Amino acid sequence: MPAAFIGHGSPMNALERNRFTESWRAFGAAIPKPRAILVVSAHWFINATAVTAMPWPRTIHDFRGFPPELFAVKYPAPGSPELAAEIVETVKPDKINLDGGDWGLDHGTWSVLAHVFPDADIPVVQLSIHALQPFDYHLKLGARLARLREQGVLILGSGNVVHNLGLLDWRHPDAAFDWNLRFDDAAKAVMTSAPADIAKLAEHPDYRRAVPTPDHFLPLVYLAGLAGAAGKPTQVFTEGYAMGSLSMTAHGLDLPS
Ligand code: ZN
Repeated sequence: MPAAFIGHGSPMNALERNRFTESWRAFGAAIPKPRAILVVSAHWFINATAVTAMPWPRTIHDFRGFPPELFAVKYPAPGSPELAAEIVETVKPDKINLDGGDWGLDHGTWSVLAHVFPDADIPVVQLSIHALQPFDYHLKLGARLARLREQGVLILGSGNVVHNLGLLDWRHPDAAFDWNLRFDDAAKAVMTSAPADIAKLAEHPDYRRAVPTPDHFLPLVYLAGLAGAAGKPTQVFTEGYAMGSLSMTAHGLDLPS
């Protein structure tokens, strides 16, 4: 089963049809139908590693200041307590908590899946990002999840390689600052040659501006861990920028040709 990292950008992408959301649809249409989906979303960034384990995860509207249509969006996919239990076993000796109801599906997950699998008929679980752990922990945990791919589980990271909300430039919806281009290009270069070396990006001179907080970047580290485990580089399948300080780049592993 392929795996991917998708740059989700604004929550409004859930409702829009644009070249990014069309590429997400094309990705969903091109890959084999997964048994279940595991999403590592930037928006579940807590002081623990947890996996949603409820049979019917709720749709979480974890944002403010957007129109009522966006608050009305539901992504009614089932959960998978079985897959959650399988993940706990797969990553041992790392420890993962089972979440019975604190979380659900946040907009990092549903704004993307609304396009990748619009029918919402495939079970979805989310994995939280442990905010206190270093890069290396996430890279190794990503690698440990590799076995799930062989069992028909689609693993998706949802974030943005470059994500600086403090420097958004609303006048230029499709543009990128030069530091955004430089860092996004550096990330492409690592992912398409030696993804397991992704921690090097933290030394990049633009890292602090591109990644002021690690939440949107770390889902890419999970894909890097999976690619390292497979011994393969990833491919870029969507490119673009938003409002100067966001990158919309998507990276895929074992994409259909
Ligand atoms: Zn986000």
